[in-house]
Amino acid sequence: MKPAPFDYHRPASLAETFELLDRYGDEGRILAGGQSLVPALNMRLATPRALIDINRLPGLDAIRLTTEGLLIGALARHEAVERSALVREHAPLIALAMPHVGHAAIRTRGTFGGSLALADPAAELPACVVALDAIIRVEGRGGRRDVEAADFFRGIYTTALEPGELVTAVVIPRAQPRWRFEFRELARRHGDFALVGLAAAARPANGALEDCRLVFFGVGPAPVRARGAEAALRGQGIAGSAAASTPRAEAEPMAAAIRALERDLAPPGDVHGSPALRRHLAGVLLARAVSTLVEEPA
Ligand SMILES: Cc1cc2nc3c(=O)[nH]c(=O)nc-3n(C[C@H](O)[C@H](O)[C@H](O)COP(=O)(O)OP(=O)(O)OC[C@H]3O[C@@H](n4cnc5c(N)ncnc54)[C@H](O)[C@@H]3O)c2cc1C
Repeated sequence: MKPAPFDYHRPASLAETFELLDRYGDEGRILAGGQSLVPALNMRLATPRALIDINRLPGLDAIRLTTEGLLIGALARHEAVERSALVREHAPLIALAMPHVGHAAIRTRGTFGGSLALADPAAELPACVVALDAIIRVEGRGGRRDVEAADFFRGIYTTALEPGELVTAVVIPRAQPRWRFEFRELARRHGDFALVGLAAAARPANGALEDCRLVFFGVGPAPVRARGAEAALRGQGIAGSAAASTPRAEAEPMAAAIRALERDLAPPGDVHGSPALRRHLAGVLLARAVSTLVEEPA
């Protein structure tokens, strides 16, 4: 199929973008990398009256260190983020996740801001920014707002963006010393959206995790922080039990953390997997991630 007819605008400034967003209201759509929007147009799942192509907006593709943390502009392509030495050093979780985002061809066009604004519940980057306690910067005619990542994702394809606003950047606090990161996902084929995934950050010490943040994706309408599992692991000696790397491990507290996932997660069932399968896979990912996180670097 071909898209329904639409007006096309390519603004040269944010001010012009806001004016177009105001003019078209609900009937105008931002076009960034087009990797999700263009297929939706072609299948006529989306029929906006106007596309507002932000690819010419200056400066929105920056990746740089600021006093607040690592800033990744909304138009930074996945491929640029994947190759960035700054990202590897200051946001290693993002670097670990990036090869799982679609395929290489998708990553040359898809953008960081587009992935966050789309808020696909099975996408990698929303879970990462929640695990990293990042700020999502949004701008509109009324000015700029910084939204905590945990408050940004409201549901399936639903975010805290108000009409007339767009995502302009993400600010990620720099990785603190002694924190380690793990990214795991299970997909039917590499590059597919995940059946279940886990973005994890933890501070290991003496065979335990002094602190940890566990954010699952593909198991709910938005990234899910597994607070029960975090509490079961925090401060407990787990080096031995985690090494078993299987949800069947009897040893506490790994088994307690896996049991806690029963309460933390309410995964959907679909043609790709039942809720029970997804919950089981979440336990497998948790055990694998924790067994790596708990090892302190030599
Ligand atoms: C075959 C295939 C496999 C894929 N696999 C994965 C995967 O495994 N994981 C994954 O995460 N993604 C995957 N994707 C999607 C890809 O990562 C997209 O790049 C991403 O979802 C959207 O980014 P984009 O820049 O292409 O946005 P676009 O397609 O241009 O836009 C997507 C939506 O976001 C809005 N939007 C875009 N930018 C902004 C902004 N700055 N502010 C406000 N709204 C904005 C648009 O209006 C539109 O509604 C896949 C895509 C394809 C085609």
